[in-house]
Amino acid sequence: MIRQAKGKTPRRPPLKKPSNNQKDPVGVYCRVRPLGTEDEECCIEVISKTTIQLHAPDGLKANRNGEFKETQYSFKKVFGIKTTQRELYEDVAKPLVEDLIHCKNGLLFTYGVTGSGKTHTMTGSPGQGGLLPRSLDMIFNSISPYQAKRYVFKPDDKNGMEVQNQVDALLDRQKRDSQTNVPKTPTTRRIDPEFADMISPEEAFRADGVDEDSSYSVFVSYIEIYNNYIYDLLEETPFDPIKPKWNGVGTPLRNNTEFIPPQSKLLREDQNHNMYVAGCTEVEVKSTEEAFEVFWRGQKKRRIANTQLNRESSRSHSVFIIKLAQAPLDADGDNVLQDKNQVNVSQLCLVDLAGSERTSRTRAEGSRLREAGNINQSLMTLRTCIEVLRENQMCGTNKMVPYRDSKVTHLFKNYFDGEGKVRMVVCVNPKADDYEETLLVMRFAEMTQEVEVARPVDRPICGFAAGRRQRNQVFKEELTRRLEERGGPVNGESTTLSQLLLSFPSLPPCEIGGPNDDITLPRLIEALEKRHKIRQMMVDEYNKTANMLKSMLQEQDGNLVAKENFISEQHGRLGEKDKMIQNQKNEIDRLEKKSKMLEYKIDILQKTSNIHEEDKRTLQHELESREQRLQRELSDKRRMESRMQGIVCDTKLKWEKECERRVNAKQLEMQNKLWVKDEKLKQLKAIVTEGKSENRQPQRPSREKDKVPPKRSASPTPVPTVPPVRPLHRRSHSAGGERWVDHKPTTNVDLDTLMQPNLPNAIKVTAASEKALSKCDKYVLTHQEVASDGEIQTKLIKGEVFKTRGGGQSVQFTDIETLKQESPVSASRKRRSSESGPSHEGERMDGDWTDVETRCSVAVEMRAGSNLGPGYQHHGYPKRKKP
Ligand code: ADP
Ligand code: MG
Repeated sequence: MIRQAKGKTPRRPPLKKPSNNQKDPVGVYCRVRPLGTEDEECCIEVISKTTIQLHAPDGLKANRNGEFKETQYSFKKVFGIKTTQRELYEDVAKPLVEDLIHCKNGLLFTYGVTGSGKTHTMTGSPGQGGLLPRSLDMIFNSISPYQAKRYVFKPDDKNGMEVQNQVDALLDRQKRDSQTNVPKTPTTRRIDPEFADMISPEEAFRADGVDEDSSYSVFVSYIEIYNNYIYDLLEETPFDPIKPKWNGVGTPLRNNTEFIPPQSKLLREDQNHNMYVAGCTEVEVKSTEEAFEVFWRGQKKRRIANTQLNRESSRSHSVFIIKLAQAPLDADGDNVLQDKNQVNVSQLCLVDLAGSERTSRTRAEGSRLREAGNINQSLMTLRTCIEVLRENQMCGTNKMVPYRDSKVTHLFKNYFDGEGKVRMVVCVNPKADDYEETLLVMRFAEMTQEVEVARPVDRPICGFAAGRRQRNQVFKEELTRRLEERGGPVNGESTTLSQLLLSFPSLPPCEIGGPNDDITLPRLIEALEKRHKIRQMMVDEYNKTANMLKSMLQEQDGNLVAKENFISEQHGRLGEKDKMIQNQKNEIDRLEKKSKMLEYKIDILQKTSNIHEEDKRTLQHELESREQRLQRELSDKRRMESRMQGIVCDTKLKWEKECERRVNAKQLEMQNKLWVKDEKLKQLKAIVTEGKSENRQPQRPSREKDKVPPKRSASPTPVPTVPPVRPLHRRSHSAGGERWVDHKPTTNVDLDTLMQPNLPNAIKVTAASEKALSKCDKYVLTHQEVASDGEIQTKLIKGEVFKTRGGGQSVQFTDIETLKQESPVSASRKRRSSESGPSHEGERMDGDWTDVETRCSVAVEMRAGSNLGPGYQHHGYPKRKKP
């Protein structure tokens, strides 16, 4: 807010900038214009009320390795192609105008690529007035009943506003009237048809809460910033014959002056540290039409300058400033209070920025290229300022914002540094050609939304009682009515007075004829007395009226006081309510914070519990798998146990049997050995005895019974020690069937062999018997022994019986038949023993069957016919060799 110099005033506390820590983000709106008739590809889609989506055009996609790119950008609001100017105005500019009327500053700018609709949005197109004419419409629609007379407010040249006294204002008005032949009543003026259809007062909005006890005045300025120079578009450039004409070409303006190149203006800072364009024309306007006409004049001038100076208009920024001055009426509610301190000036800047494209749209050559660079520079500075501001606000840093680097940013420094509402309409053209530039625009716009600007505070209420204007009106009306009642003429105060004077009796001729003239004086005296009487009557009447007025005033005063009391009471209540609201707001804030905190905690807890749940699941899973493994191992173990038990049982039984069998076999073997020895002895004995008798008898086969050695058993020997002498005398070969001695020792084991010798008429003996031999000519001995594989084998040793010379019997062995039984168990046991190697059975075997050597030694023992079973402790015994 632009304030005047502070002065001492008893009525009001000094104007201090109220501390304000409430901030609002820059309001960024997005407007999408319709696609041009020649454009085909649309790159923008409005996907919600606040979001648009950009699609990369086909050509670009191919360039970027076919990468398909879609980006979304969100704004405070997005306006699609069907949005009307009125809708846009209502959302975007209306609040700013309301603020302006309530003494708050505002800044609204349009940003975008050339051709995106910035000017269409800000100024409008024929038949479709933009934000600027609509803002003017709303301002005048709201304040026109309370406008001050022209020149009551007068801008000083230091960005301030003064209040002129009535006389000076009147003089200025008369001067203006004489200079221009403006008709007295502006409403009857013809509107320029060029822009007539851009103003639509019938559509105008009206602001609420306009202070009726204030007087208002609107001032407009219009500047252009080109190539970082500021030009005043409303400056009346008088014809200057000394200055050379620009380019030698003069273009006559409407007021028939030749074209003079504009002089650039400087930026200054006023005493309240607000930036302003020094010496800039501020035109006081009293209606929308007048204001827009002024704007249009500036616009024309701009166009002419651009043509004359060969400039590109899209590369300049145009700034239209609407200043609203307001000051309270005096206590009578009659005139504007003559107090500079009570003047409030608020301003709304409407900025149509230069096209944001990086290079000139049209061919930029030579100096124009340089200009283009500078224009870019100012938009670059704007971007940098926004960036730094955002960083400072977000990170709490205190970097210097380079406002001074360009005129645009420098001029609007106070909006970002101080207070006010800042809004931006980002205009976009959905055509494919603009895609890349539009992306940059979107990024800048999104960033801008993150910058916050201090919220403007409410204007303090002036110390006078409210309703002054209305009371003054009422009083004036009442006075007029009463004077009418009295029958007097009512055409103003001065006429009433002169007519009253006319109603006085006229004075008689006052020329005295001579010393004796005694008629003239008495007539004069009489007339004067009459006049005096009338005067007296008038004085009385006047006093009466004055008294009446006094009482009326007093009455009014009473009413006023009552109303004031009521108002102050209401104020008090309002204050209380405000406090309550504030408290509740604080409470809401606190609760919101708390709820956010709790939500955050819940979130964390949820996450933790999720992690724990996950842990639990994995652990449970692990537990289950371990349990399963355990179960499996247990069942394995049980199975193995039962198998082992079976094996142990089997082995035990087998070995018991085996042992028994071996013991028997050994016994048999020993008996056989004994028998053989016996037999040898017998044969030796026989030889000895035969040798004695042979000395007396020739040696021949003998059948003598008495010379039989005392005990002889026909036991076969594998190698008969005494070979029989051939040819020997056989007993009989023709005896029609041989007779056998079947010798089966009792130690023999019955093996249930199928192939048993079939010997009919055989004499069965269990021991060698001479008697049996003498009766037979054939002999068979069934001999059992343990074979090399440990099995019992049965041998049938056959022989022929011969009579010895001594009369005994001798057997000559002729044939050995072997019967052998094989047990499948031994083979399977062997196999099993190899199966149950340490690699398969593991620790379970480390009792008896630990190593191969031990088992071999056992096997060797068994093969050797050992009677030691596997149950015997063989471990650690050295391997025994087969004897
Ligand atoms: P800029 O100022 O951004 O360069 P303009 O406002 O001059 O662009 O717009 C270029 C053209 O597009 C103008 O002819 C204008 O009438 C048209 N245009 C822009 N926006 C719209 C819109 N929203 N609806 C219809 N026409 C539009
Ligand atoms: Mg434009």
